[in-house]
Amino acid sequence: MPRVALVTGSTSGIGLAIADALAGSGCNVVINSFTDRPEDHELARDIARKNGVEAIYVRADMAKGEDCRALVASAAARFGSVDILVNNAGIQHVAPVEDFPVARWDAILAINLSSSFHTIAAALPLMRKAGWGRIVNIASAHGLVASPYKAAYVAAKHGVLGLTKTAALEVATSGITCNAICPGYVLTPLVEAQIPDQMKAHGMDRETVIREVMLERQPTGQFVTVEQIGSTALWLCSEAASQVNGTHISVDGGWTAQ
Ligand code: NAD
Repeated sequence: MPRVALVTGSTSGIGLAIADALAGSGCNVVINSFTDRPEDHELARDIARKNGVEAIYVRADMAKGEDCRALVASAAARFGSVDILVNNAGIQHVAPVEDFPVARWDAILAINLSSSFHTIAAALPLMRKAGWGRIVNIASAHGLVASPYKAAYVAAKHGVLGLTKTAALEVATSGITCNAICPGYVLTPLVEAQIPDQMKAHGMDRETVIREVMLERQPTGQFVTVEQIGSTALWLCSEAASQVNGTHISVDGGWTAQ
């Protein structure tokens, strides 16, 4: 039986690359976002065609606990279980603490942290029943170190690492592992879209913005690629990683070595 993989926030960027990598290894895949556009369903069909697996899109708003739990239930209803859960959905907002909009704080904590609590809680009974499972939480370099003006994001990503360790201890004898990936700067559509604004704001060309504004903290001076995060997630889901539990893998070009 093919494994069943559910990746939250996976119509773009890192989540899409992870879904594609897991499908490439033979998993049936559930992709998700909150939009429910025709192109979201088309993406699932593309993944299925390209990899010779089954793939569906399920709309669920990761800001809402009941949607998170319903997403896991939908995946299990369609494919029988959830073997691999990748908590990837995430948003960002940048502002000083004293000006940070309360609604943005609440949304970031809900989408970037609480959603993982809900999906893990809903998926664990299925994994325990199967006697096998993999949970991969997409944290960030900001799960380990801070940057100014990102209070909610940094707090949520630090929380993700705490949740990862706690869940890992609870599942340790069940054939299940729970780990996190901490990416540095990844060139996703979201990041790409910021470059023109940064060029304008700083009066710099594209290369200077990338080097001096975006990658100034990443010692390799290069973006991480979405495929590199996809491969890391795939490895964490392999048998080779069955004794890797309750930890994180940094894929950050040396950012957090400093
Ligand atoms: P992205 O914006 O390209 O993709 C985010 C995905 O999440 C999209 O599919 C979007 O539809 C979905 N999403 C957003 N809000 C949602 C909601 N309420 N419910 C369901 N889905 C929702 O972003 P990305 O750069 O690929 O980031 C993915 C994850 O990786 C995030 O958790 C982010 O914090 C983390 N990360 C990104 C970087 C980076 O440099 N890009 C670095 C470290 C960590």
